[in-house]
Amino acid sequence: MVPSMVRSTIDFGIDLGTTNSEIAFVDKGQVNVIRNGFRDEITPSAVRIDRKGSIIVGKLAFNQRVDDKDNTHTQFKRLMGSQQILNFPTSGRQMKPEELSAEVLKSLRQDVLRETGEEITASVITVPALFEIPQCDATRRAAEMAGITCSPLLQEPIAAALSYGFQADSLDGFLFVYDLGGGTFDASLIRTVEGRLRVIDHAGDNFLGGKDFDERLLDYLVRKLQREAGLRALDPSTDRKAFAKLLAEAENGKIQLSNSASAYISITDLGRGLEDFEASFELTRSEYETLIEPFVRKTVEICQRLLDANHLSKTAVSRVILVGGPTLTPLVRSAVESGLGIKPEFKVDPMTIVARGAALFAASQRTPQVQSPRPAKGTLRLKLAYSPVSQDTETDVAGKVEETVDLAHARVEISRADGGW
Ligand code: ADP
Ligand code: MG
Repeated sequence: MVPSMVRSTIDFGIDLGTTNSEIAFVDKGQVNVIRNGFRDEITPSAVRIDRKGSIIVGKLAFNQRVDDKDNTHTQFKRLMGSQQILNFPTSGRQMKPEELSAEVLKSLRQDVLRETGEEITASVITVPALFEIPQCDATRRAAEMAGITCSPLLQEPIAAALSYGFQADSLDGFLFVYDLGGGTFDASLIRTVEGRLRVIDHAGDNFLGGKDFDERLLDYLVRKLQREAGLRALDPSTDRKAFAKLLAEAENGKIQLSNSASAYISITDLGRGLEDFEASFELTRSEYETLIEPFVRKTVEICQRLLDANHLSKTAVSRVILVGGPTLTPLVRSAVESGLGIKPEFKVDPMTIVARGAALFAASQRTPQVQSPRPAKGTLRLKLAYSPVSQDTETDVAGKVEETVDLAHARVEISRADGGW
């Protein structure tokens, strides 16, 4: 293993999401998202404990969420800071929401170790604007359990704004962040207050997201198959395989429809007595849009209420930023545009934008002071003060020599180990 590099700034940022989590870092001024063992930038926030008591995190756990529902937990971020205990009956284990979050963080930390050889102990972690002290404390404890002993928290909408390069001194008016995730919707208003970007108000729905789109489409598929392909009535408790397959197919279809006007749905072997079942058809985007339109309309109404509550007209909003996987849906984009009267920004990938912004923020945060050893004879110790990140081509660096020596003819040259500047 490569020894851990000594960093003067934190550089790593984590989006510990309700549905998915990501980790990004800044290297030579560039933001990189770290891939997991599947080469994915996105890791489902899902934990399963099998019969033997092994803990499975991420995609493998997510894929078992219907088949092995009882031993697989997702969406536990909603319970952070509560006293709720989650059971894994087959293994007999019980875990707190923060312990499950710690498993997700451990898996991200493991990905960093594999990809960069670094064993990180510091990372910025993002939290929703609505998180209060108990939820933030639970998030810090999760980080601690995962070996991340330094974990400054940053609000998700602020991270999104940083990803677009918005800074406190350059922001005019209000930024609107529209974040539609897998199971939650958050709308935030940001502006510069006393030289800092601040979330001045937020609104949302804790039970509205991409998951609802999947379930609505699942319902539709079942009814269509019953009407047109002779599928028998399904029972959620005994036809788990059928539901698991149809739900996965619904999510795939939904994702296809973000990029094309129709999706090919193909279904085979639905388990118990339905092993020979087979059906396929085209699902059109307009058919799908009719299904999700009520959910989308609800999000736009929440945005309008947030503006009204702050006595703001649409023209006060200078930019709208889209965050979250479901904002890749064309209907969502057009509804936000017509609802807020402004074309939303979607240049930065909405699924990694929060982790990217967290990493940018992390690059401006110093790591806890490492005590430097006493200098060897013949060397001097310099104390420097400078801003870790800057967009300027010239920046001031103040320095002080710690030993008492005559510096009358001294010249100081600062160079960066990697040749950058
Ligand atoms: P969270 O903030 O809850 O962790 P994400 O931002 O990761 O959520 O979004 C997850 C949701 O995005 C899931 O419901 C997933 O199905 C959906 N999703 C992912 N890609 C797309 C896409 N291309 N089109 C529509 N929805 C998508
Ligand atoms: Mg999110």
